[in-house]
Amino acid sequence: MRELKEKILKEGRVLSDTVLKVDSFLNHQVDPQFALKMGKELAGRFAGAGVTKVLTVEASGIAVALTTGLVLNVPVIFAKKKKAFTQEPGSYYSNIFSFTKREMVGIYVNKKFITRADRVLIVDDFLAQGEALRGMVGIIEQAGATLVGVGVVIEKVFQGGGKALREKGVRIEALAPVASLAGGKVKFINGLN
Ligand code: 5GP
Repeated sequence: MRELKEKILKEGRVLSDTVLKVDSFLNHQVDPQFALKMGKELAGRFAGAGVTKVLTVEASGIAVALTTGLVLNVPVIFAKKKKAFTQEPGSYYSNIFSFTKREMVGIYVNKKFITRADRVLIVDDFLAQGEALRGMVGIIEQAGATLVGVGVVIEKVFQGGGKALREKGVRIEALAPVASLAGGKVKFINGLN
C-alpha cells in the first residue's frame, strides 16, 4: 500500500535495527481516516473469504481491526491482556512474550465470542517475531474455529514471525512489508510498490 509506505517514511522513526515507531498515526495517536483506508485495503484482500469475526489484541491492533470489521460488516473482538499464568475462567487463554514489554503476558477472549462456526480473520498493527499471532491462533484453535488468514499493517519480515504460519499454508497479508531497518533506514520489500 503505497500511501502507507510513504507515510511510514515521512512520519516513522527507526529506534533501532528492530523497532519502528509510528505513533503519530497508528498506535498512540490514531488517524481515523487513514485507519479506514487501511481497513478497506485489508477487507478487500479478504473479501469473499467468508470472514465472520475479526480478532486482534488490545490495544494497538484495535483501530485497524475496527475499520476492517466495519468494512467486512462483522464483529471485532480484541483479546484482553492480563498478568501471565492467571487463567481467566470461561475464556480461551494463551501466554505470549511481548515484543515491546519484554515480558510474558496472558491474552484471553471470553468463550461466548468465538465458536466452532466462526471464520476468523486476525488483524494487528505489527508482525514482528509472531508471538502475538501465535497467541491468537491458539485462541482460535481452542475455540475450534477456522482461521481464514492474517492481515497486518507492518510486517518486519526479517524477524521471521510469519514464517511458521505461511509454511502451514495460512495466508498473511501485510500492507507494508519491511525488509530491513538497518542503519536507521526503512527498506520495504518491493520498494514503494
Ligand atoms: P510479535 O508478537 O510479532 O513479536 O510483536 C507484535 C506486537 O509487538 C505488535 O502487536 C506490536 O504491538 C508490537 N511491536 C512489534 N514490533 C514493533 C515495532 O517495531 N514498533 C512498535 N511500535 N510496536 C511493535
